[in-house]
Amino acid sequence: MKCDKEGIGMQEIYLDNAATTRVDPVIAARMVEVMTEQYGNPSSLHRKGLEAERLIAVAEKQLLTALGAKKGKILFTSGGTEANNLALRGTALAKQRRGKRIITTALEHSSVLDTARALGKEGFEVIEIPPDASGRVDTAALLAACNAETILVSVMLANNELGTVQPVAALTKEIRRRSPLAVVHSDAVQAFGKVAFSVEKLGVDLLTVSGHKIHAPKGIGALYLADGVRLLPMLHGGEQQGRLRPGTEPVPAIVALGMAGEIAASSLLENIAAVSALRATLCEEISALLGVVQNSPNEEITPFVLNLSLPGYRSEVLLHFLEQRGIFVSSGSACAKGAKSHVLAAMGKSPAEIDGALRVSFSKYSTLEEVHAFSAALADAMAQLQHR
Ligand code: PLP
Repeated sequence: MKCDKEGIGMQEIYLDNAATTRVDPVIAARMVEVMTEQYGNPSSLHRKGLEAERLIAVAEKQLLTALGAKKGKILFTSGGTEANNLALRGTALAKQRRGKRIITTALEHSSVLDTARALGKEGFEVIEIPPDASGRVDTAALLAACNAETILVSVMLANNELGTVQPVAALTKEIRRRSPLAVVHSDAVQAFGKVAFSVEKLGVDLLTVSGHKIHAPKGIGALYLADGVRLLPMLHGGEQQGRLRPGTEPVPAIVALGMAGEIAASSLLENIAAVSALRATLCEEISALLGVVQNSPNEEITPFVLNLSLPGYRSEVLLHFLEQRGIFVSSGSACAKGAKSHVLAAMGKSPAEIDGALRVSFSKYSTLEEVHAFSAALADAMAQLQHR
């Protein structure tokens, strides 16, 4: 295989960045340094421990700054899934004597939806608000569901399948008026580094991010906690992270997440502009292909994700056709492993549109040549594969 100077195969056209991203080589190099030189346990009382503890403090500061938080703290977790579980379950258990209502949306990632549904089986009253046809939450229905017994509202910032951005800041203000007890959480895994936002402006109490969507490794994520927010821990053990998330901190991954957050925030507008241009080209090219349906709207979105459907073709077949040409995209959410999209279904898409859905997702490494290659391969697929 022909390789560029960083050893990455040039034939690979990776357009599945909402599933995961390539680790930034600078971040990977720094992780090796931490693993081999600054390898102390942050809980150790000697100098090596202190050095590791300081690295965590720096990463926390980098993340708080990247999230636009003047105050608050960061709990490092094993990823977005754990942070979402901790946000929902930790809040529900902390507040259960004051109310039982939990409100979320049908658009959420399974780590929110399934946690909420599990809490529903444990005696909480869980309400899932459906989206409208453009893939945004029905805000009137959500606010109508907010009552005095509501203890938690969880609304994602950017949707992983469509890239639609939810009006979290406006919702938070209204939720506070109707449900003064409620903790407001937002899953920002697909928004961090892809949408301009700050936790202060969103007004949320809790916010989830994940490293591997922004060029840090898999297995690291974080939950932002605003000042004064109370959670119960899900794990029990040592004194780490104020006992809210015990366990020896994965310092190299935490350093990576801090760096990735800082890099993403500092190049945010530049990356949004570059990726928006790629997305616009892709939209134009696919609009010339008869029969392709664009599922993602063009406004109030992150440009990093574009969802489309080829009704009459099966996404799995398309996926493998593209793969043979070195092009990697997905049929929807990577976590769903080919299961039909609950998001497209909730939007009222037809079975043929759901069966033939593809998600193209960009990163700062994506190029115009890759977009052209994808569009050309899609046209080939439509010409060569059998329409059902
Ligand atoms: N939330 C959203 C919106 C996601 O897209 C993902 C991952 O796909 C997650 C949460 C889970 O994050 P992680 O893979 O770090 O557990």
